[in-house]
Amino acid sequence: MPLRAMNDLTAHNASLAGELSAAVTRVLDSGWYVLGREVAAFEEAFAAHCGVPHAIGVGNGTDALELALAGVGAGRGDRVALVANAGGYGTAAVHALGAIPVYVDVSPETWLLDPVALDRALTGGGVSAVIVTHLYGRLADMVALSAVAARHGVRIVEDCAQAHGAARDGRRAGSFGDAAAFSFYPTKNLGALGDAGIVVTADPAVAERVTRLRQYGWDRKYRMATGPGRNSRLDEIQAAALRVKLPHLDAWNARRVELARRYTTSITHPKVALPAIEAPGHVAHLFVVRTADRDGLAAHLRAHGVPSETHYPIPDHRQPGFGDRFADVSLPVTEQLCAETLSLPCYPELSDADADLVADAVNRWEV
Ligand SMILES: *Cc1c(COP(=O)(O)O)cnc(C)c1O
Repeated sequence: MPLRAMNDLTAHNASLAGELSAAVTRVLDSGWYVLGREVAAFEEAFAAHCGVPHAIGVGNGTDALELALAGVGAGRGDRVALVANAGGYGTAAVHALGAIPVYVDVSPETWLLDPVALDRALTGGGVSAVIVTHLYGRLADMVALSAVAARHGVRIVEDCAQAHGAARDGRRAGSFGDAAAFSFYPTKNLGALGDAGIVVTADPAVAERVTRLRQYGWDRKYRMATGPGRNSRLDEIQAAALRVKLPHLDAWNARRVELARRYTTSITHPKVALPAIEAPGHVAHLFVVRTADRDGLAAHLRAHGVPSETHYPIPDHRQPGFGDRFADVSLPVTEQLCAETLSLPCYPELSDADADLVADAVNRWEV
């Protein structure tokens, strides 16, 4: 069967169809649909999976970032440091908070937040928090980044939306920062049947703040104890589906890594640079190659029935919606990566045979 898309969510969820249907029916019959027993049980299970004491279910990953930032004390008018090559979600969260993005370049080796560039950005003060994005499934260097942030008294929010389950030295993504945000958008390594997100933290004060802010700032019904709050709740159907899927996350991640390794040996095109997937903790959310004529490779693959996608073509500081607001921001590594990266299909249900077809099509590119 030809590869039709970058993902096959029908096959993914079909493998658990009976359990997922039973979970949805259980919620339907319960008569309780938002922030109930399913959410509480999933929060507990996900916190345990991450190795942190607190998890707070919210509406989606972007809300999770915004609420995590608010949870660590960032607010209106504050400066928040972040990368500009990660799809703009962090930027959206920073703006929703009324805060100001301070863009930092990424490392040319890892494509993740560069500790040296962060140190430079924090020198001189004025930044209150930093978002560290574990892009494509690869854990950022949290030891170096935490040391830099601590030296400047800046709190860290991890963006783990592409790194569920990634671990290094026995610690999972989400357990390094002051707080962390996850998305369960259906294509993520752990995906719901709709929108969902979560904030995890080891800090009880952050947990309490986020718990209030996700529901109007209430500490109890109709009392706004912390504010301004908002409505970003996790619903019972999504939580019930996520409870079914969480026990399979590590096996799915292992299959993604296996496919990434397969690509690493089978793709041999001299003009196509491969990602370093052997980095500890990699969970291969995306398999992203790099080549000078990215659009040429994408067109060649399309002509051979192979889907591909660019994550992400426009760096945040060059998005047209911002006009020339960031015109004087220059991030050479970020800008070059946005022009040269291309993602190949990499999802747990992809067969070895189809992965070999993808690799073969790449190798046959005449450039
Ligand atoms: C998907 C994603 C988000 C946002 O999640 P939503 O649930 O779509 O709001 C944030 N950060 C990264 C890195 C993502 O990939």
